[in-house]
Amino acid sequence: TQIKTYLKSKRIRTYGDDVPAPITSFPEMTTRYNAKPYLTKNLVQSAFTRPTPIQQQAIPIVLSGRELMACAPTGSGKTLAFACPILHALGEPRKAGYRAIVVSPTRELSQQIYGVFKTLSKGKKFKVCMLTKATASTQANNPKLREKFDLLITTPLRLVHGIQQGEVDLSGVEHLVLDEADKLLEAGFVEQMDEILAACSNPKLQKMLFSATLPSGVEALASTIMKDPIRVVVGEK
Ligand code: ADP
Ligand code: MG
Repeated sequence: TQIKTYLKSKRIRTYGDDVPAPITSFPEMTTRYNAKPYLTKNLVQSAFTRPTPIQQQAIPIVLSGRELMACAPTGSGKTLAFACPILHALGEPRKAGYRAIVVSPTRELSQQIYGVFKTLSKGKKFKVCMLTKATASTQANNPKLREKFDLLITTPLRLVHGIQQGEVDLSGVEHLVLDEADKLLEAGFVEQMDEILAACSNPKLQKMLFSATLPSGVEALASTIMKDPIRVVVGEK
């Protein structure tokens, strides 16, 4: 009930089974989930002193390995809400090919997300690929190059093209983020999402959706692709 009161005060609503308690500070990622200290250090260095409500509830859910549908307003800090637990899950850089992928609707957003991962992983040699025409063709010409990367940030069009051309291999991906999922699951993108999901053939795949709004049609569609998800809503639905 203490947790209930806390969630209410932060206007966090959750739906689903066995929802992990929120974290109230970033160091709790370390005390509760054994996250590496570099994460907290980089957060502090970037002046991220306290997690925002969506970060407080989404981070422990993703760290617990659960699938997530998160809905929180623009500017509420959704990027760190997935970047922190994904970097934790990746452990160390591995040169084994993409293990996590973030799909966002525009190149500008992808670039921002890329920047956040770079800042947050400072001091660790994670290889983050931002898929563009140029990086895709380099990797097509030198398939060995793909294996150097841990993480892929991309738009759906670019990614589907890469899959169809055999330029990207998603069979090792364990964490998939659909950012601005309401836009990604709009009518025009649905076939691309199907193709991306089919290419993520690893049975261990953990899926996460982040969005500012989740219209009921989109939510219904999202539910069909998720396994026992937890839904988190911050602020107005
Ligand atoms: P959203 O994706 O929900 O629209 P962003 O992830 O783009 O939001 O973050 C919005 C802004 O808030 C960014 O400038 C980011 O640096 C800042 N921010 C995120 N988390 C925190 C935090 N815990 N403390 C302070 N600022 C934060
Ligand atoms: Mg965002």
